[in-house]
Amino acid sequence: MPHRTIHLFRKGLRLHDNPTLLAALESSEVVYPVYILDRKFLTSVMHIGDLRWHFLLQSLEDLQKNLCQLGSCLLVIQGEYESVLRDHVQKWNITQMTLDAEIEPFYKEMEASIRRLGEELGFEVLSLVGHSLYDTKRILDLNSGTPPLTYKRFLHILSLLGDPEVPVRNLTAEDFQRCRPPDPGLAECYRVPLPVDLKISLESLSPWRGGETEGLQRLEQHLTDQGWVASFTKPRTIPNSLLPSTTGLSPYFSMGCLSVRTFFYRLSNIYAQAKHHSLPPVSLQGQLLWREFFYTVASATPNFTKMAGNPICLQINWCEDAERLHKWKTAQTGFPWIDAIMTQLRQEGWIHHLARHAVACFLTRGDLWISWEEGMKVFEELLLDADYSINAGNWMWLSASAFFHQYTRIFCPVRFGRRTDPEGQYIRKYLPILKNFPSKYIYEPWTASEEEQKQAGCIIGQDYPFPMVNHKEASDHNLQLMKQVREEQYRTAQLTRDDTDDPMEIKVKRDHSEESISKGKVARMTE
Ligand code: FAD
Repeated sequence: MPHRTIHLFRKGLRLHDNPTLLAALESSEVVYPVYILDRKFLTSVMHIGDLRWHFLLQSLEDLQKNLCQLGSCLLVIQGEYESVLRDHVQKWNITQMTLDAEIEPFYKEMEASIRRLGEELGFEVLSLVGHSLYDTKRILDLNSGTPPLTYKRFLHILSLLGDPEVPVRNLTAEDFQRCRPPDPGLAECYRVPLPVDLKISLESLSPWRGGETEGLQRLEQHLTDQGWVASFTKPRTIPNSLLPSTTGLSPYFSMGCLSVRTFFYRLSNIYAQAKHHSLPPVSLQGQLLWREFFYTVASATPNFTKMAGNPICLQINWCEDAERLHKWKTAQTGFPWIDAIMTQLRQEGWIHHLARHAVACFLTRGDLWISWEEGMKVFEELLLDADYSINAGNWMWLSASAFFHQYTRIFCPVRFGRRTDPEGQYIRKYLPILKNFPSKYIYEPWTASEEEQKQAGCIIGQDYPFPMVNHKEASDHNLQLMKQVREEQYRTAQLTRDDTDDPMEIKVKRDHSEESISKGKVARMTE
């Protein structure tokens, strides 16, 4: 008997490589494509900020348009998940619910409650993996039921597993014609709301536009430059270029507007035709594998987004300092490089990976000694690509709480940015108050004389703050604290330790004075 199906979009806001929706269409006489806009869930569990709200609504609008072109529609139902489902299952005589399987605890819990509802109301539940390259359970099974805790070990397990699942075919009008669409009247009742309907500020509009169509266009644009794709080497990309120097696809992957499997296989095709191509960890496929790595570890590590109760994370007595945290979050640290990055993040919702390094190191082990959880929450609110596993994994990395062990390398908030943008064009764009400073002062305007500050039209301490810390003193102090923590918690630190260097840091290491830990004495290396 063909089913009457609700296909529930959670992430996976796309029609290409959507195995679950394809399975729904193949097994049903009628399919209701539904997105439940549960504001409480989105705000208090997902913590989505204004920029991501816009991106989400644009993605839903695009999905609606694309479904419409294939003879169906998207039904956006506002309300609390369980009660919306309960009502509509009964109203529409639903016999099957299809949804993507996800690894986040809150999505797993949601799936479990949908399954319980299914038992109570008599519908079947089908969930398939579509958001990652592999079903993470297969990776865990091959690694004796536990997550591989280093990238190297992870790649080894993947070499046993073979290539990821190939993408499923694109959905067509014929797929939708085989079963009935929802009544046309329903689409009118359940339209995609406008930002004003949800009282989302119209001031915060990012230049990034949400949706599958935009995501696919960006993907195609990148893939036309096959030489760039084949030679992509992440550490050589520029954190302060005025346009993204990496693909900028993360917001689209994060909401599932783009399939990582599609991207992976398009890359494989280009690599197959190239004489030489870069390799993981620094290649583009290597970036997708970092994503996969964090997904795998997060899927099987308790309290992955917290320090307490997280078995792979160093337990550190971080400072609680709301005022300092606020200065970091609102771009008032007095270090133009850090403040420009935090401004770009707030205005646009995307910053380069190494820019993320700079501000995360500054907040945690570098300068302020504030918990990575606080930084992660700020990123969660402001990033368009905010992602449970990747965000927490990278924050643990940057704070040297897990995965990263070269903790003597601390980024200098003055020299780091200057290396790739000596004229400070990036700072001039995001902090226009500093735009008239000569280049030699742009990273440290407090060193300009009073006269020079007047000429630049910006008095430090009045129009722009003095640096909130003495970087040398703060980072020296923090380095000693970190050394002590790592000695005391040696076993935890070893859990995620790889014997290869951090690929992102290799170039940096060569460029700067090298010092190391010798005979128990910590010598610092400031990058
Ligand atoms: P590209 O370099 O073009 O890479 C292609 C894709 O690979 C990305 O879109 C992303 O899906 C994946 N990827 C790249 N780098 C990483 C990485 N280090 N770890 C895991 N996956 C990666 N990325 C997020 O998607 N969401 C987050 O919430 C997030 N939080 C971060 C927090 C911190 C403190 C740091 C240091 C990094 C964080 N990243 C996060 C990882 C990374 O910075 C972004 O994925 C990347 O900058 C996105 O830009 P892109 O799409 O141009 O990346």
